[in-house]
Amino acid sequence: MAYDQTDATALSGSMGLAARLDAELRDAHPLAILRKAFETFGDRLALVSSFGAESAVLLHLSSQVSPDISVLFLDTGMLFGQTLDYRRSLAARLGLTDVRDLRPAFADLAVNDPKSDLWRTDVDGCCHIRKVLPLDRALSGFDGWITGRKRFHGGDRLRLAVVEEAEGKIKFNPLANWSKVELDAYVAEHDLPAHPLVAQGFPSVGCWPCTKPAEEGEDVRAGRWAGQDKTECGIHVARAPGVAPNVGGDI
Ligand code: SF4
Repeated sequence: MAYDQTDATALSGSMGLAARLDAELRDAHPLAILRKAFETFGDRLALVSSFGAESAVLLHLSSQVSPDISVLFLDTGMLFGQTLDYRRSLAARLGLTDVRDLRPAFADLAVNDPKSDLWRTDVDGCCHIRKVLPLDRALSGFDGWITGRKRFHGGDRLRLAVVEEAEGKIKFNPLANWSKVELDAYVAEHDLPAHPLVAQGFPSVGCWPCTKPAEEGEDVRAGRWAGQDKTECGIHVARAPGVAPNVGGDI
């Protein structure tokens, strides 16, 4: 799918680097994209994973490049127990040695969500303290990061670049080009275990208060914040230059 082409020669710094890498990698296999990311950033590269319904593919591919890659897992405190079990078993199965559990700051919860019910009245504020801020803090130690987003998820992701710039860092989206069929074929080829909730009708898995099964024929992410305008938790929402992390708003 076509998306805006950027003139790399007109850009400098991290934006120029992202544009050059995107031009080089936009049609590359995910494994080649991951190798280039690791070659470029080494231990300044992190992978952000929800250990959700489709996470096994990217984690398996990355483990081929380096099982020691830093994997950042947002444990919001509102995840399904099945996700926490899956995070442990999948990390062990793939031999990942550096999976980091990112949790909300105690002070943020005490001030803004002392009863753990902010999601009922302010989903953007809840995602901000449970996802955006913990990830911002963790990413301060990295120059590049990898996400599992794909264009077939629809919405804002339809125009997803393979490499992009965000907040001065380089974001790699190695699976941007892959279809659901290609993902399923990779899972079958490598006999990767499914998230336990997939069999219960969840094609995408987030926090339990904000995730429900999708109906037949609906988009993959239809069960996320269903019935609300919200489609992203905020960690992939662009911020204006000089603006602090936004309250508005997967991994
Ligand atoms: S997905 Fe729902 S419960 Fe999870 S952080 Fe966002 S608003 Fe809160």
